[in-house]
Amino acid sequence: MQFDIYAIGGVVPLLELYEFGRIMDIIATAKMNLPLNAPVHLFGAGHPMFFSFAVALGCDLFDSAAYAIYAKDKRYLTSEGTLYAEDLNYLPCSCPVCVSHSAKEVRESVELLAAHNLYAAFEEMRVVKQSIVEGTLWELCERRARSHPSLMDALRRLTKYVDFIERLDPVTKHPFFYLSETCAFRPEVRRFARMLERFKLRGKVLLTTFPLNEGEAARRMEQEGYEHVLVVKPPFGAFPIELAETYPVGQSEIPNEIDEHAKEVALEHVLRLMRLNRDAKFFVECDERWANTEENGRG
Ligand SMILES: [Zn+2]
Repeated sequence: MQFDIYAIGGVVPLLELYEFGRIMDIIATAKMNLPLNAPVHLFGAGHPMFFSFAVALGCDLFDSAAYAIYAKDKRYLTSEGTLYAEDLNYLPCSCPVCVSHSAKEVRESVELLAAHNLYAAFEEMRVVKQSIVEGTLWELCERRARSHPSLMDALRRLTKYVDFIERLDPVTKHPFFYLSETCAFRPEVRRFARMLERFKLRGKVLLTTFPLNEGEAARRMEQEGYEHVLVVKPPFGAFPIELAETYPVGQSEIPNEIDEHAKEVALEHVLRLMRLNRDAKFFVECDERWANTEENGRG
């Protein structure tokens, strides 16, 4: 209806129940049906632990009385969750309130608690904004998801909307950090899967999980008669060695211990690449990290 701004309401009861996964569904449903150039306000979502997730799905504005309501209830907000003021022996925060008062003083004053809560909310806002500038908002959500199972639900739910996000996600960013199995379903991985159709392969093709540099690849092509050398890197799959310096495959940091999700997604992509290039003859060499996959009968 061509409004300048839109708002999503009615989520407060769900926030109070920590039903973050369901709130993700609500935000995504609204965003997928709203013009992308209009700001979206999420009513009443004032807890800093959820900001990064709401922003990841496209919320722009927040209002809240949460800082005061939680303070009245003697609760101390942090970007990782809610603490009960009475449990605080130390103040895990460096806002002006927390550095100039004792834990006892903050515990006993609704006003000081409210002020701290507001500082905590604004701090998380700045952290979210800076992560957008850096292109690390997903990584921030990964970190926040570690602090509460309901936030883990929110993160997993985010992957359900990855096709929608992928269309709007910047093509290059800060290096891709693989931080948990949900990273196997990130927009960058989905986009890479679409790129597979552009790899036209023929003749002898080497797929290797060993890190090769371009010089070594060129030598093997010459000595062993390969037309193409592709490096297999979880969770992406196989990419031509020529793309080794490009985002995201070349600029991704993957743990040495690879989880099953990353392997499965990579293997699916490898199999799809083979199906797309039926005339090529593939030779696969892999290191011991992939051995378990084979033993499990999943290779
Ligand atoms: Zn503080």
